[in-house]
Amino acid sequence: YTTNNQHGTIRIEGDRVRLPKVGFIRFTQHRIFDGEIRSATVAMTKTGKFFVSLLVEQPDEPWVPAEHKIGIDLGLGHFAVMTNDALVTEKVPNPRNLREAEERLRRAQRALSRKKPGSRNREKARLVLAKKHERVKNRRHDFLHKLSRRIVDENQVVVVETLKPREMMQDRRLAKSIGDAGWGEFVRQLEYKARFYGRTLIKADPWFASTQVCSSCGENGGKKGLDVREWTCDACGAHHDRDVNASLNLLGLAD
Ligand SMILES: [Zn+2]
Repeated sequence: YTTNNQHGTIRIEGDRVRLPKVGFIRFTQHRIFDGEIRSATVAMTKTGKFFVSLLVEQPDEPWVPAEHKIGIDLGLGHFAVMTNDALVTEKVPNPRNLREAEERLRRAQRALSRKKPGSRNREKARLVLAKKHERVKNRRHDFLHKLSRRIVDENQVVVVETLKPREMMQDRRLAKSIGDAGWGEFVRQLEYKARFYGRTLIKADPWFASTQVCSSCGENGGKKGLDVREWTCDACGAHHDRDVNASLNLLGLAD
């Protein structure tokens, strides 16, 4: 059947599509688009698989090149620290209400594990929790979508740090933060949005010493422990904020 998107009832959130009268259903998106959904057609194959075709209206005007270049350092204190070629630095905080929601979820998860296995109460609690998980995940995706869209809107060249997963995952506290922060998803979104709008995305080599090198003189000041938030370059005396310096070094890869 075909149904029109009259009140914005058809929409995509994360890996789910919302259809009128049906609600949210999990789906695999085969093509990424950006535009207004006009209608949806649902068809079923003989094997019982469902297909949703969306009619999308896209803006006519070609995308104009953006003005700036930007270097993005992914941090723990902040979600990201970004500096552009006008030397404007922005520290993007981890959304606080999201952090709190995630903390509540963890507590609910622990409460659930204390309920008797197989009991009706446990099953009920499990469902409630699954829905909450879904909502928090969607909010996280929403945050990432808005941020990545704005970055791609404003910048023609985007340089983003790629993380050394093995090294970072060895630290359990760090691994948790990485999981929460959704950096992998963020880079994935930057990647397809850059492709869609004709931007250049540069993923820095994981071994690029963005935190070690002085962005003023280029001297490699050696490894910096995670607790080192600020440092002074021995060679030129420049004083650096760890993350801002890293974002400047990443910006340097844009040329
Ligand atoms: Zn220096």
